Amino acid sequence: MSSKSEKSKHDLIQAEIFAACNDLGFHATQEHKGKGWRTDVFAVKDSKKFAFEIQISPQSLKKTLERQDKYLRDGVVGCWLFEKSPSKLSDERPDLPLFHVTEQINPFSVSLSGRKELCIHDFLEQFISGNIKFCNVVRTTPEQKVKLVFYEMECWKCKAMNHLYYIETNFRSACNAVIHSYETLWCSDKNVHRPEIIALAREFVETEQGKNLKLGEIKRRFSKTVQDSYLSFGCYKCDSIFGDWYVMEAELEAGYGYGQVATIERSVKLDENIELSIPHWCYPGESPFCDAS
Ligand SMILES: [Zn+2]
Ligand SMILES: [Zn+2]
Repeated sequence: MSSKSEKSKHDLIQAEIFAACNDLGFHATQEHKGKGWRTDVFAVKDSKKFAFEIQISPQSLKKTLERQDKYLRDGVVGCWLFEKSPSKLSDERPDLPLFHVTEQINPFSVSLSGRKELCIHDFLEQFISGNIKFCNVVRTTPEQKVKLVFYEMECWKCKAMNHLYYIETNFRSACNAVIHSYETLWCSDKNVHRPEIIALAREFVETEQGKNLKLGEIKRRFSKTVQDSYLSFGCYKCDSIFGDWYVMEAELEAGYGYGQVATIERSVKLDENIELSIPHWCYPGESPFCDAS
């Protein structure tokens, strides 16, 4: 990209931020100079001071933190809008409100690491009002939308045709962070074996539409392979355990469409929230922040 077009993109965003800050009742100035710093847009209202920095050209994490320190020292909240994050920034951090400026929503918008996308005006309004806050954990909302996929699996022992299911959707936090099921394995049993999810599957099997599905019991069974008992799918007819490995393989095949027999989409209330240590700038909208007690 030429430096000319970089500059114009930068200037367009700067003008939009400037206009939005004024619209939000702040006194805004462009290219404002402080003690040893200069910011794209400086916005003041009462005792609140913000410095908005647009970074289209790359800037290292070190340099960004150095500049951020000066804002901190002068009681200014520095907020960064990068087109491309500094390469050394792996996790979001509380001392650095840094977001991504994109052209997803015309003309420019701000992405909270893909969780939410707001036009510049709305982003500024929410940020300035303190509705975007740093949280160390992501937490599921009690109400989740789930999609269950039922598929065929033959019993390895008695050869009866069984039906199992997997969850195609991931659980999410109020700020729309994805909580991958593999990340939750360590904190409890698998999501498919959660009582709420089992209840959902059972309920469906009782309906007219699902009455031909053969879903065995989900309970603890002893596995000779692992020499331990664990919560498992099993044959509806002979109660043999369906080992994790085979279930995983069958699930993978079903994921490609083989042996799928039914899908259902439902809302489910989780009995307990799942919490993961994922530091992030949380914007839950009307819902409580991820770290709310
Ligand atoms: Zn069987
Ligand atoms: Zn959150």
